[in-house]
Formats: sequence, structure tokens, C-alpha cells
Amino acid sequence: MEFETRAIHAGQDPDPTTGAVTVPIYATSTYAQAAPGKHAGYEYSRTDNPTRHALAEALTSLEGGAGTIVTASGMAATSLIGWSLKPGDHVVLPDDAYGGTYRFFAKVLSRHGVEFTAADLTNTDGLKKAIRPNTEIVWTETPTNPLLRISDISALSEVTHEAGAALVVDNTFATPYLQQPIALGADLVLHSTTKYMGGHSDVVGGAIVAADADVLDGLRFLENATGPIAGPFDAYLVLRGVKTLGVRMDRHSFNALMVARFLEADDRVERVIYPGLASHPHHGLASRQMKNFGGMVSFIPKGGPEKAAAVTMNTELFFLAESLGGVESLIEVPAAMTHMSVVGTALEVPEDLVRLSVGIEHVDDLISDLDRALGAT
Ligand SMILES: *Cc1c(COP(=O)(O)O)cnc(C)c1O
Repeated sequence: MEFETRAIHAGQDPDPTTGAVTVPIYATSTYAQAAPGKHAGYEYSRTDNPTRHALAEALTSLEGGAGTIVTASGMAATSLIGWSLKPGDHVVLPDDAYGGTYRFFAKVLSRHGVEFTAADLTNTDGLKKAIRPNTEIVWTETPTNPLLRISDISALSEVTHEAGAALVVDNTFATPYLQQPIALGADLVLHSTTKYMGGHSDVVGGAIVAADADVLDGLRFLENATGPIAGPFDAYLVLRGVKTLGVRMDRHSFNALMVARFLEADDRVERVIYPGLASHPHHGLASRQMKNFGGMVSFIPKGGPEKAAAVTMNTELFFLAESLGGVESLIEVPAAMTHMSVVGTALEVPEDLVRLSVGIEHVDDLISDLDRALGAT
């Protein structure tokens, strides 16, 4: 079956007891057993819950993995992977990783003896230089946030596997509709389902999809032992979002391309970063690796950080807010907002960079909104 069909049907058969066509919210912590230890697959909701289970099945199908752990947030997913490391292990991170990922390794796991190197992973030379004998995990994001750099997942997976390490791909920006890292050699795919998977800015969630059943078992053990699970209400919201992922990503990608072209042609704009533009340095790779280019656009207006701030305060449809991936358009200045925690580190981003999460409103309205805001001072 094709992606759009699996998004609606995988793990989502009608409820066996009532015929409900929508997976119910199983608000229960425990399950009655027929005899001690004899149950229908559920014993306690930290271990598993039918609503969370349905979402896990859907994500497994969409990413093409062996199974999925559904977590309470993207960071809960990241920290669950962190529990699989031990003192003396080494991790390679991209030098423009999601700020929270960087903070977790730099400020939390480093206190427990896990070492890391932030490297340029847009080419394999950067990775080869960063790898050490004790490297256990190579972590990549593509496209990155907010600079929208693209890394070559299959090339990175070759180098990673030669070194005996595992490749983790944060697929939050692309989603499995646009890019399926497991087919390209990734061992684990991580999501903040808060973003495009949920898609409506009404839930915080995360997931890890494992390519291999043994690795999945190890993560299941850690999930049950440490408890970073999503509740059934949140799992329901993400599952509801996933059903429309394909149509939303088509529209996000179309709108973002139109917005990027508008900005690139405007002489009030210094530079536009969007992987779908021929001017993007990794446009060729993005075209091969992705089905389309997604909804995130970054740009630098002429006039410095003051101008960047003025633009973000003068849009009406683009809300000035952190986060991304919802149906509504958002605008922000990463250096002052989402990326405050990386100021002064290798991950610092330009102060006058503006990031757009282009929503699925009518593109003409979005372009008029930006046009007006660029004119304001
Ligand atoms: C938001 C985000 C995360 C963290 O997810 P939360 O759901 O906010 O915990 C991780 N990676 C990327 C790329 C993100 O955008």
C-alpha cells in the first residue's frame, strides 16, 4: 500500500469491541487479567497502551522500521537513546544540531562521562575526522534547523557503519513523507511529533523508530525501565495528525517554495535559504534524497538584526512564535528565541536570520503578509 493509505490504515483497524473506526483513547492505567499473568497483551500502561500502540504501528509502517517507541516529547526520545550510552562512549553531533539535542549532550550526558564532538556532517570528511574508536552514535539532522543544510544519509551511514557505530537521523523537519532514512541506512529515526507529524500545534510528543528488532528490544526495555512514554490523549492527537501528513506536506512544500521564490526576487532581502531553490548549495542532494523540500524557509533581510526583528513584529498571519510544523504559519528570529541556548557555541546562528514555518493557508495571503512586513520599519 502507498504512504497516504498506510497513514490512515496502518495500526488503525476498527476497534474490535465496538467497531469504532477511530482508534479510541484508552484512558486506563491497568488491564483486567484472566488469570495471574494471562492477559490480552496489555498489563500496565507504562509498558504499553492500545492508543499509543496504534500510533507506534502507524509510525513503524511510515518509516519502514522494525518498531517504534512513542515518547512524551522529542527530547524524551533523545534522552531515551541517551540511556543506551555509558561513560566513555562518544557521540558525533552535527555542528548545527537542534539546540535541545546539543544541550542534552553538552550539559547533561557530558556530566555522566559521555563525550561528544560537534562536526560538519554535510560531507563525510567532517564525519571521518570526528569519529573515534569509542564512537557509538553518529547523530544527524537533515534538513537542519534553522540553516536548512542537507546531509547525505546513505554516505553518512556507510562511514558510520564502517566505524562500528549506529546512525541516528532526526527526521522531524522532513517527515517520512518526504524522506525515509531507514531505507538509506539509518539505524534509528527520531521525531519530535510536536511538529509536522502532529501538525496542529496542539500536542508535544516524540518517537524513535528502530530499523532492527534487537535494537528495538533494547529500547523497549529502557522505555519500560525509565518511563518517558506518551499518554493516550497525546498519542491520539498525533495519530489524528498523521492521517493527513501527506496532503499537509504537499501544501507546506508548495507554499514554502512560492514564499522562497518571492523572497529571493525581492531586493529588500539579502539571502534566502530553502533546499528547493537552485541557489541552495545542497539543492542537488536534496532533490535526490527528498520527495519534496518541506515547509521551512530561512532568510536574512537587508538592514541587520533590527530589521529582522521588525519584520517578525509586523506580520499578521505569521505568528511570532517558537516551534514549527503546524497548519498555521510562524515566524521567529532563532538567535533571540529557539537558538538562545547555543549563542557563543559552534552552533551559533546569524543574529539577523529569520526563520519561517510556512503553513497551509492560501499562499497569496502569506506572500502579501511578508510583503507588507518587509516594508514596515
Ligand atoms: C522540536 C525538535 C526537537 C525536540 O522535540 P520536543 O518535542 O520539543 O521535545 C528535536 N529535534 C528537532 C529537529 C526539533 O525541531
